[in-house]
Amino acid sequence: MILRTPLAAGHQMQLQLQLLLLPSVLLLVLHLLLCDAKTVNPGDGMQVQHHQMTAEPGLPEPRAYMPDAQHLDFVYHDHEELTRFLRATSARYPNLTALYSIGKSIQGRDLWVMVVSSSPYEHMVGKPDVKYVGNIHGNEPVGREMLLHLIQYFVTSYSSDQYVKWLLDNTRIHILPTMNPDGYAVSKEGTCDGGQGRYNARGFDLNRNFPDYFKQNNKRGQPETDSVKDWISKIQFVLSGSLHGGALVASYPYDNTPNSRLLKGICRSSALCAMFQTYSAAPSLTPDDDVFKHLSLVYARNHAKMSRGVACKSATPAFENGITNGAAWYPLTGGMQDYNYVWYGCMEITLEISCCKFPPAYELKKYWEDNQLSLIKFLAEAHRGVQGFVFDPAGMPIERASIKIKGRDVGFQTTKYGEFWRILLPGYYKVEVFAEGFAPREVEFVIVEQHPTLLNVTLQPSKYLVASGTSTSTKSSTVNRRVTGKLQLSPE
Ligand SMILES: [Zn+2]
Repeated sequence: MILRTPLAAGHQMQLQLQLLLLPSVLLLVLHLLLCDAKTVNPGDGMQVQHHQMTAEPGLPEPRAYMPDAQHLDFVYHDHEELTRFLRATSARYPNLTALYSIGKSIQGRDLWVMVVSSSPYEHMVGKPDVKYVGNIHGNEPVGREMLLHLIQYFVTSYSSDQYVKWLLDNTRIHILPTMNPDGYAVSKEGTCDGGQGRYNARGFDLNRNFPDYFKQNNKRGQPETDSVKDWISKIQFVLSGSLHGGALVASYPYDNTPNSRLLKGICRSSALCAMFQTYSAAPSLTPDDDVFKHLSLVYARNHAKMSRGVACKSATPAFENGITNGAAWYPLTGGMQDYNYVWYGCMEITLEISCCKFPPAYELKKYWEDNQLSLIKFLAEAHRGVQGFVFDPAGMPIERASIKIKGRDVGFQTTKYGEFWRILLPGYYKVEVFAEGFAPREVEFVIVEQHPTLLNVTLQPSKYLVASGTSTSTKSSTVNRRVTGKLQLSPE
């Protein structure tokens, strides 16, 4: 059941937005004509007021939080209790939260998402949407509880904590505390290892159930996975964290590698497979490796222990600085983070936050203390890099324009408001923008450390290209499958 649908909200906004945009867009077009590709920074008066992205303005660190046990104690909450907490919170904080369900598990449990933001029901045009997903493995529920506390932290700190206020005023944070409630229901507290409860009610590992970039994934799509796929196809998430247990490390794409098929062919027994994997586990790096490493380090370094890179057990690996490439740890097919990144350009990493998968409840308080700063600072990273709009000459936003940062062949697309975001570290970049019916365009820009770069791009119709029959294809169109095939420049 969907209580309210922030997903659908904002339809009426479009016209309103276009009207708001017009004067500024005219200015902008003039500006672009005069000085082609220039970085437009917040504060120099070129951007639309409504879209002003406030960079993290040297705020004091978020304050520590200890929950009021009356509202949320450090215990595990079953599905009914979780639902009750989310409903009560949305009733208590209607201006900061919105509760919706993205679908149901096999056994009919709602996959609840709580939005926490100063604009919980409507996307804030020009500002990023981000997400956390917990408990994709049912027997790894520390993340599930951390996310409930994160919600409680945000709503109770908004009026008193400058950092939280800034974050919620400039970001819509979608929190799915449990992606696998059925698995959780059959998991046992105190069980540190093993697979009981890991899978959904049909025995599928949901983190092996997504379409894969490197290898055909023949696993039948599960309702939980389909719900998440549908969700992320509707909202352009800029940044995401998926919370797991069983290790202490921030792991980043790719999880799979072009060699995994070969590996499968070679090894027949699982022991042999494990041996091959140990020796063959080479990193499988994305073109955004610098950014993924950075994001992982932000989590690890703000965590009480993760960046020390201490092994959970003597037989398990120690991770330098508490981060690892997914495939370098062990390759897997059908993982959620690769899917987020390759299909939608969403920078998702996997956060393994407890050595024990299902530790006793009395340890939850300690886990919260270890993770609270990481959970908040990681989300703030959505405000790093470039963001902007793609317009036509009339100043109307161009939806589904394909965008690539040159040299980073995993592309992404603009939203229906023409918005785009990309997390990038300081440096010089070139962006390539393509849209059906328009001439492609390359624009150079600069990223600085202190604040995001605002970059608006106006595309001109591609009439002359059509007339002359020029076929312009891009050699960089091969990686992003979702974008591939949409890069033709002439209208059909
Ligand atoms: Zn897991």
